[in-house]
Amino acid sequence: MIPVRGYEGRRVAVLGLGRSGLSAARALRAGGAEPVCWDDNASARDKADAEGFQCVDLTRQGAFDGVACLIVSPGIPHLYPAPNRVIEAAWAAGVPVDNDIGLFFRSLGGRDWDSFDVLPRVVAVTGSNGKSTTSALIHHVLAETGREAQLAGNIGRGVLDIDPPGDGAVVVLELSSYQTDLARALTPDVAVFTNLSPDHLDRHGGMGGYFAAKRRLFAEGGPDRCVIGVDEVEGRYLANQMAEGPGDDRVIDITVERKLTGPGWHVFARKGFLSEYRKGRQVGSIDLRGVAGLPGAHNHQNACCAYAVCRTLGLAPREIEQGFQTFGGLPHRSQLVGEKDGVRFVNDSKATNVDSAAKALMAFDKIRWICGGLEKEGGLSGLLEASASVVKAYVIGREAANFALQLQGVEAEVCGDMGTAVARAAAEAEPGEVVLLAPAAASFDQYDSFEKRGEHFMEEVAKLL
Ligand code: ADP
Repeated sequence: MIPVRGYEGRRVAVLGLGRSGLSAARALRAGGAEPVCWDDNASARDKADAEGFQCVDLTRQGAFDGVACLIVSPGIPHLYPAPNRVIEAAWAAGVPVDNDIGLFFRSLGGRDWDSFDVLPRVVAVTGSNGKSTTSALIHHVLAETGREAQLAGNIGRGVLDIDPPGDGAVVVLELSSYQTDLARALTPDVAVFTNLSPDHLDRHGGMGGYFAAKRRLFAEGGPDRCVIGVDEVEGRYLANQMAEGPGDDRVIDITVERKLTGPGWHVFARKGFLSEYRKGRQVGSIDLRGVAGLPGAHNHQNACCAYAVCRTLGLAPREIEQGFQTFGGLPHRSQLVGEKDGVRFVNDSKATNVDSAAKALMAFDKIRWICGGLEKEGGLSGLLEASASVVKAYVIGREAANFALQLQGVEAEVCGDMGTAVARAAAEAEPGEVVLLAPAAASFDQYDSFEKRGEHFMEEVAKLL
């Protein structure tokens, strides 16, 4: 645990008592603060109560008297579509609002750091898609080479739950836009921006707000190195803002769309080959085509980001390549579940938005596509270009008929539930085809989480195998 410093003997309010809220409360208490906790959900309050935390209704008049700060969980709206009323109350009382990420960056580092030969470094990864894969890949490569590394944030442990890092250690954080938007301190040594496409727009008041939230990772304090995907206009804008001039290697730009060989530092992947260019010369390369855990151009983008980070941390290209070869991939992301009679079954339940589903579709040929669920803002038109390789769609979700209607140019069958969709797709699939779950929608109309949806897909597939 990282005990929170700076609030010794003071009351700190904690709103939301899920995983990150409880971990913040524990870290505050360990640092000598007095957490006062609240969650609208009584069973969440019971859990806090069982750990001896004081629960106080923060919606009550005067609840913020004597409170130094309010810590908010990422699931609670802090601005759009409307701020939670507890947050409004904190504003009215002049109490600063922050989150566990802000506490983490202000509390990391202690007196023992003076004796370290190499200071611990924090790598923070943000972007619309590929955050988990990139973060896990960086962590895996570092661990494989024997470096001390910890993975936390949106993946692995809560940020305040990590062990105090030792001499030369690396902390890899995956950070969502909700987290970067609210944190009052964001000072990673290396910041990564994978890509940007519409997602969570209701929570950010549109695309501008969404990009602004992610950009804060680069603005508040300024990282030593910035690894930036430049395949969208927002990435190119950010890369330009962070660099002093053409040869400035503070920025490493990443692309999977073209060759980048000019001055500066670039990592790109084309036709399955990763190349690193620095000051106009090629200094490293990896053949990604045989790397089983990283299929498709979208994973090659993640590989480029992870490679760039590892290079800034002093790893050699060959060490990184070896780490890639043993990376198993993450569950629910292009996960090969099984094969029968020449038909492969792939679980990409994490494709909860249009761009990630489009990328999954582009990673395979001849697809029997299981899609549908709770549709996100912005419509499905972004899928049309990617759906050329779809033989037929099998649509699930409560609004399956409406979803199917929007898949113009794709033969679509309304299946409703996962069992029917898997059975129908498997029955019609020919050898050489792929039955792919890539919903392009959230899961909450039928499941508690994308994990549950992916597990259900795998159960249905297991019945067939
Ligand atoms: P995140 O943590 O940002 O949600 P994940 O690594 O969990 O990212 O992947 C989420 C979804 O996006 C999965 O469906 C995955 O196949 C897809 N994906 C992964 N990397 C990328 C990328 N670089 N670009 C687009 N889609 C991606």
